[in-house]
Amino acid sequence: MAELRIPFFRPSIDEADVSAVAETLRSGWLTSGPNVRELEAELSAYCGAKYVNAVNSCTAAMHLCLAAWGIGPGDEVITTVYTFSATATVIVHCGATPVLVDIREKDFNIDPAAIERAITPRTKAIIPVHFGGEPCAMDQIMAISRRHGLKVMEDAAHSIGTLYRGRHVGGISDAAAFSFYANKNITTGEGGALATNDEELSERVRILTLHGMTKDAWNRFDAGGSWRYDIKEFGFKDNLTDLAAALGRTQLTKIERLLDGRARAAARYFENLRDEEHLILPGFDEANRHAWHLFVVRVKNEQSPVQRDDVIRKLAERGIGTSVHYIPLHYHTAYKNLGRWQPGDFPVAERTFEGAISLPIYPDMTTAEVDYVCETLRAILHP
Ligand SMILES: *Cc1c(COP(=O)(O)O)cnc(C)c1O
Repeated sequence: MAELRIPFFRPSIDEADVSAVAETLRSGWLTSGPNVRELEAELSAYCGAKYVNAVNSCTAAMHLCLAAWGIGPGDEVITTVYTFSATATVIVHCGATPVLVDIREKDFNIDPAAIERAITPRTKAIIPVHFGGEPCAMDQIMAISRRHGLKVMEDAAHSIGTLYRGRHVGGISDAAAFSFYANKNITTGEGGALATNDEELSERVRILTLHGMTKDAWNRFDAGGSWRYDIKEFGFKDNLTDLAAALGRTQLTKIERLLDGRARAAARYFENLRDEEHLILPGFDEANRHAWHLFVVRVKNEQSPVQRDDVIRKLAERGIGTSVHYIPLHYHTAYKNLGRWQPGDFPVAERTFEGAISLPIYPDMTTAEVDYVCETLRAILHP
């Protein structure tokens, strides 16, 4: 078997992407302008949410949404312990309290029963994360939220293109935040967006995105625009540039091809690894469309002759890049310092983490590359 080098991720950037950015550079308009407005309209048409605010990251989108809802000191927001830190960091930055709950064994997604148990009179919102591109149990989560009068904001960083029972993520709950970070399903280098059907939320987010300036001021450099503006409240500086938005627009035109490439790689992984006795493959529901941002296998450490950490090291020695999604949040120093959680508090997330390896997956991954990863992985697991 020839030795290949397979990175954990490889971006899919083509000449159309390059020209769109170059054209924007030549246009003389670099920061938020026509490309941002077009990208917002195109994202809205794609995901079926009435309003989209493009901003400079998914983290910013989530923070702005919570801030626009007025979430602050004394409020609690429930989210999963098995996510990237940004999901919970934005709660802390609003001055509110993150309440972490455990996941479901089958798909690493937040456990609706655990959400219900964590609700108190101070709870204001729930942030489900569609892990890897597989949607959470949104019907159950929306029912819980309506019963208790809570807002739901989806961390959809992995899941632009995900369908939940035929519906696009973005128009299902009160708001959804997408990421266009370099390795996400479509990219603007750095970028993100908030999708919602709530006009008031979108307007408030727009003002908070750019210093708290009035809506009129957004166009203040247009010919005929006024130099006058008002700072209505203390906002942030989270706007997306037109350079980034130009890339986002060309990326969005080929999103189906990008998602198909990921799905093909995932299907090949299943074919090759289905009967591998030392691994648990990712679970998913056929009623949804998975966006396959991540392909996370779990090493059965109790029975496998080679443990997770050694598998990762040996894959790296053979030129294969991997990652681990996620180190449960309560294992990190900043979370430990809050003094709210102990090891053992989240048994499913903890045991999932112990075995987890994220295998390489990206749109242009070839069958030969997937096969090489699988053959190498099998050889490591059967020394
Ligand atoms: C990538 C990611 C984010 C943050 O996205 P940015 O655009 O980098 O801010 C948030 N949540 C999850 C689950 C992510 O994977």
